[in-house]
Formats: sequence, C-alpha cells, structure tokens
Amino acid sequence: MARLTATVRFDLAAQLAEVSAVVDLTLEQHAGWPAFDLRQDIDSASFDGTEVPGEALEHRDMGAGYEARMRCVEVACDPGSRHRLELRYRLGTPQATGAQALEWPDQGVRWDLWMSDLEPGRYLEMWLPANLCHDRLAIELSVEVAGAGRRHVLLANGEINEAVPGRRWSVRYPPSYTALSPLLVLAPAEEVVLRRRETSVAGLPMSVTVACLAGAGAAADPASADSAAADVTAWLSYFAARYGRWAHSSRFVAVVWGSDRGMEYDGATTSSPHALEHEVFHSWFGRGVKPARASDGWIDEAMATWATASRRAVGRYGAEELGLDEPPTLLCPPHPWSRHTPREAYLGGSRLLAGLAYMAGGAPQLRSALADWYGTYRGRAASSEDLANHMARWCGRDVGPWFDRYVHGRG
Ligand SMILES: [Zn+2]
Repeated sequence: MARLTATVRFDLAAQLAEVSAVVDLTLEQHAGWPAFDLRQDIDSASFDGTEVPGEALEHRDMGAGYEARMRCVEVACDPGSRHRLELRYRLGTPQATGAQALEWPDQGVRWDLWMSDLEPGRYLEMWLPANLCHDRLAIELSVEVAGAGRRHVLLANGEINEAVPGRRWSVRYPPSYTALSPLLVLAPAEEVVLRRRETSVAGLPMSVTVACLAGAGAAADPASADSAAADVTAWLSYFAARYGRWAHSSRFVAVVWGSDRGMEYDGATTSSPHALEHEVFHSWFGRGVKPARASDGWIDEAMATWATASRRAVGRYGAEELGLDEPPTLLCPPHPWSRHTPREAYLGGSRLLAGLAYMAGGAPQLRSALADWYGTYRGRAASSEDLANHMARWCGRDVGPWFDRYVHGRG
C-alpha cells in the first residue's frame, strides 16, 4: 500500500529526462525489508531521510529467475510501519525484455508506458518505483516538456490538469490503481488526432477520448479516429449490457495506432483498430476484475480470446469436450515471485474455457458464468483458485483435475 509522487522533466535540448520520485509506503502484516522494483539506474536514494548507497538497492533474484528480479531496502521494518523512499534518476530504456526506449523526434519527445503482461518488470516499474501488481498505488505525476520545442499532448487515464498548455501537466491516478493500471502517452501535438465524445453507457455518463497517433511515416488519420471512437462507444455499451456495470471512472481513453501491439489499462487501452474489441473487453476482464497475482494474468487472456475472436485464429464462444489426455499446459507459473503471463494463455486458456463451456452445458451458460464472475469480483482481484471454484459451481462438478493439468501443468 503506497502513494507515489513523482516529477518527470523532459529537457528537449539535452534529450534528457530527469525523475524525482517519493514513495510513501506502509508495510502490511509482515515485518522485514521493503521490496520494490524500478528498471532504471538510480543516481541517488534515501530512506526515511537517510541516504542509501546505490549498491544497497541492487536488484536481486528472489527465486523466480533474474528476469523477475526485485530491489529491497535493507532496513528491518515493523508490520504496519510507515516509511518514505526517495529516488532520483534519469530515464533510460527500461531494463526489461521488450521495453521501448524514449524517442526524441526533432524538438519533441515521445513517451509511452508501453506495458506488457508477457514479461516480468513490464508494468509501471519500468519507469517509476512500484511494488508487484497486487498492491494498490495512488499516483501523482507531474510531467514537464522543457525547452524551445513543439507543443505536446499528454493522454492518461487519470485526472489531468494542464498547467501550461502543451508543456506541463499533473496527472492524479486514483488510489484503487496498481502498477498495471495507469496509461500515459506523451507525443508532439501534430502527431495526434483527438476525438472526445460525451456519451452514456448503460445509463451512466461517459466521456470517450480516442487519440489516433501517427506512425512509421504516416500521418494520424481523422477518419480512423472517427471510426475508432464509434467502435469504442459501441463496445462499451455492449459489454456493459452483457457483463455488467462499468467498474472505472466515467472516462474511457483509447490510443489507436497502426502497430499490431495492444495493451489494456484501467478504463483505457493502447490498441490497433482491429484489436479494440479485445482491449475494451479487458476493462471488464483483466482491469475491472484484476489478477490477484501477476501469474493469474492468464485468466484475462483466456477469457478475452474465448469471448472476442478479433485477435486470434480461434473460434469465438467455443464449446468442445476436453478430456484429461491432452498435453498439460502451464498457464499459472507457481513461484510466488513469478510475474508474467505465459503466451500459451491465449490459445491454451481459450481451449480450457471451451472445455468448461461444454461441461457447463454450452457457450450461453459459460457467458453467463463470465457475467457472474465479473459481478462477483468487480473492482477487486481474483485468483486461479477463485476461478476453479467459480467454474465448479457453473459446471456442477469438480473441475480441479482440469485446472491441475491445463492451468498448473501437472501431467
Ligand atoms: Zn489481451
């Protein structure tokens, strides 16, 4: 449980980004060293006002492999005690597989948090200090683009206050967020086509922001922005009607581009136009109900693949008998410090759901089971064990052997 207050200052002339971050944290039920992660080199640090040498915060393998490494403050702290960690550093390319560098186009900067479930260390900790994704984190972020250069646009799924137009913003993300929640994209203004729509979703007012970004030599396209805004609004209404009430603030933010990659955030997405259905679905399943641990992230991709066929070459709403003689699949890595979703989650997870649909009596029953899952855990986190218990009720039988074999990889 923590509050993060940070300032990121982009110096366009020097092509340098400096960060000052303060984490106010409270230990929960265990005594010990506070653990956190940050995939940047730290220039200076202090803990409760005392300077901490850089080597005391070095990454360490917690047993789930070096890719899932964490940092610890080597100070014994009591349960329930409160502390302050202060860090200063310059932003480089985050030290995590697949992370993207900052870009410095002429007189400008492009910054996208560019998160991923597929590799450890690819949530907020790429850029700012954070705990594992189960831990709630209220964030106040100030962003400044300094120096003579172009005006910029900042997009985020928090409350944005634009203090100096095109230059300086503060963003307040709500305390319900965790390291996998916040979206932030910063880009030169002329590379962005913005559409804002005030609409209503299942009777609730909703502000939909769609930003189409230029890419790979192509200008941002106004027609694509209009089309994406219409699609996003339709998917929001459809999922609210089918699965239940919106769990986030009265805002949805979509950043749309030609690139194939997409990512879900709380009430927000970065997406290609053809993946919008999949990514908007994640505001219900994945960020409306969050994974209890990073290794429970397979649930969201299994459900999204089964219920939206827009991204994968598998049938939507499959219902097909699944025996206990197929090769085992590991979707939920067992180590407590493990923090990635295996790629098998999409196809293997979807195949498991098709088998559960068969056991539940068909796809309509499984869709109702998903709506019931969302209704039960909306705004909270849920684990693989929770899902096994939920599906056992809907299937009217023990599904433990299927979870053992096709989730936990026990052959
Ligand atoms: Zn997905």
